[in-house]
Amino acid sequence: MSILRVALDLPLPRVFDYGCDEATPSDVGRRVLVPFGNKHAVGVIVGLADVSEVEAGKLKAALRVLRDAPALGRDWLELAQFCSSYYHRPLGEVIFNGLPRRLREARAIAAPEDAAFCRLSASGRGALARLPARAAVQRALLQRLLQGDCAETGLLERNPGARKALARLCDAGWIERYRLSTPLRYGHFVERLPLNTGQQQVLRQIAAAGTGYQVFLLHGITGSGKTEIYLRLIASALAAGKQALVLVPEINLTPRLTQEFAERFPEAPLVTLHSGLADGERVHHWLQAQSGAAGIVLGTRLAVFAPMPRLALIVVDEEQDASFKQQEGLRYSARDVAIFRARQAGIPIVLGSATPALETYARALSGRYRLLQLSQRAVPQAQLPLVQTVDMRRHKLEDGLAPPVIEALAERLRRGEQSLVFLNRRGYAPVLMCPACDWVSGCKRCSARMVLHLADRQLRCHHCGANSPIPRHCPNCGNADIHPFGRGTQRLEATLAARFPQARVLRVDRDSTRNKGSFSRMLGEIQAGRTDILVGTQILAKGHDFPNLTLVAVLNADSALYSADYRAPERLFAQLVQVAGRAGRAGLPGEVLIQTQYPRHPLYLALAQHDYPGYARTLLAEREQAGFPPYVFEAVLRAEAKELRTALAFLREAAAQAGAPPPGISLYDPVPMTVTRLAERERAQLLLQSASRKALQAYLSAWSAKLQALPQRAVRWHLDVDPIEF
Ligand code: ADP
Ligand code: ZN
Ligand code: ZN
Repeated sequence: MSILRVALDLPLPRVFDYGCDEATPSDVGRRVLVPFGNKHAVGVIVGLADVSEVEAGKLKAALRVLRDAPALGRDWLELAQFCSSYYHRPLGEVIFNGLPRRLREARAIAAPEDAAFCRLSASGRGALARLPARAAVQRALLQRLLQGDCAETGLLERNPGARKALARLCDAGWIERYRLSTPLRYGHFVERLPLNTGQQQVLRQIAAAGTGYQVFLLHGITGSGKTEIYLRLIASALAAGKQALVLVPEINLTPRLTQEFAERFPEAPLVTLHSGLADGERVHHWLQAQSGAAGIVLGTRLAVFAPMPRLALIVVDEEQDASFKQQEGLRYSARDVAIFRARQAGIPIVLGSATPALETYARALSGRYRLLQLSQRAVPQAQLPLVQTVDMRRHKLEDGLAPPVIEALAERLRRGEQSLVFLNRRGYAPVLMCPACDWVSGCKRCSARMVLHLADRQLRCHHCGANSPIPRHCPNCGNADIHPFGRGTQRLEATLAARFPQARVLRVDRDSTRNKGSFSRMLGEIQAGRTDILVGTQILAKGHDFPNLTLVAVLNADSALYSADYRAPERLFAQLVQVAGRAGRAGLPGEVLIQTQYPRHPLYLALAQHDYPGYARTLLAEREQAGFPPYVFEAVLRAEAKELRTALAFLREAAAQAGAPPPGISLYDPVPMTVTRLAERERAQLLLQSASRKALQAYLSAWSAKLQALPQRAVRWHLDVDPIEF
């Protein structure tokens, strides 16, 4: 009998031994069903052993090795082990964080099929003429196949309704599905445009570095054609019969990218991995990655854990994006894990951005990463937008808008061009107030305000999601005359509609795009020119092309300039570059107007000069002086409890356990978090810093073992390594 070392999805820093007669070394990496307490649990076998520390009489037997899905490879387990030790989380938790839900269950998985391809049948060739115009999705699929055969995955990525439409067309006999016996034809790549000299140079530099491990930072201004670089690199990986992994911040917000990939690689099966997929689909895509059938895996941060046996390239687009960092459970940075993965696999990784994270940029400047630059817009006549500030101290605002902004909007309406008014605050107004007694609508569960949502007649907390009806009178003094204060996107939408009655105003934010498919429908409306003024949050800032959009007006950006969070200006700069990049991408020149109280602030000056490198150096100098990342490495210990003092007491005890830190490591006093109360829990944290990542890691390892042993007394705690939010 052998002993199985089994990782379970438990917050305990250990693996569990089980006896098993049927297991062989090839079962390492497989799932196994085991008894745990009085239940059954699915675990993953991370090793076999001859002896166990558990007394023979007490060793339980595993129930069944689950062999329906292939075993996770040794390199995958090694990656999990790395995350476990770097983020100081139990191996089981890391493994189960990476697995799709269906693999966390014991239910059998249907064996993955070979990738399917689609072609038009003889009758399907004439079908287009017979389909009514309203069958738009079916028509689009047929049109695509008229150009040639295509991987089924590629067709399905084109449209949310594509699966149903494809089934109909197959039933009608117009489309035939077929399977290719291996080897797959990965190679065919649709070359759409000749590369410009900048792009050629970048590709030459990457090629010259060979196929081994190397981190590249592709710093390219918005619209410089970074996607084309990714596509070419992927094409050569596929041509060599290898796989490529592409990580993007939010796939639902960038349908264009998925479509572009599917169109340019019609034969290479592409799968997506993100949290919006149904469980069945997600595990199917995962298994295609694992079998090597999927040439390209395109996904959000969780895709960094996709098993890919023939991985030859990783691309991380918008590498600075905060969504790459998971903010709960295993608090990993997908970008950093991707870099580890590239080193482990001995392959190149390309980090792309118009505004790299300062950590990344500093490493590129120091030569640890190779810096590649694209400094021109790729479309020949496209220019960078003209960025100007509007001094709010010199203008009287009308409904929150300065006259020059109103005039610019009117001008766009006259010319039949589109405008975007950017306001990163959804809802009608950020707070409801009573002028008589100064009551404000606070959340009962959080130290935050309830936002007024007029559209669904509610007050809503954006931190914990709590809802309550809008009071008719002040709950404090009974005054009936209570007012919304400040403005959110809903109010702005109403204001603009009233001021420009002839304009078609469309609001795009998390509230208006909550229903499935509504975001892509709105994008369609915008691209078809059926809107004049867009009101949007950052959801609109990401890589969309709106050829007729020539004006971006930015409201209320100032609050980030003097924030307590040292990362706030870096984020604001990145965000404004992204929104500004929406203006004037085709032939029409773009204009960006920023309403501000601080028109001479270095951030706005740099933005107007399109000078990321200059501003980055300024921020880096400030960080160096203040002793912030990237000049130090950080970790925080957070605790939450019913009462703040319990959380603080826990942190003080934790600090006492740690003892005096060795030289080179700073341990700060526990402090309440910025949003102290969240969903009825009060939160505090303790910061550690060190100029040496290695020293910090060694210290954290020893410390977290002691923390495990501390009595917990109604406190929940966790370590966050390389935190980005405080
Ligand atoms: P980025 O990701 O750098 O912001 P994109 O990759 O979206 O930029 O490219 C911006 C636009 O430039 C796209 O419309 C793309 O089709 C176009 N483009 C890219 N490369 C070229 C090229 N070599 N010649 C002409 N147009 C190009
Ligand atoms: Zn709340
Ligand atoms: Zn009152």
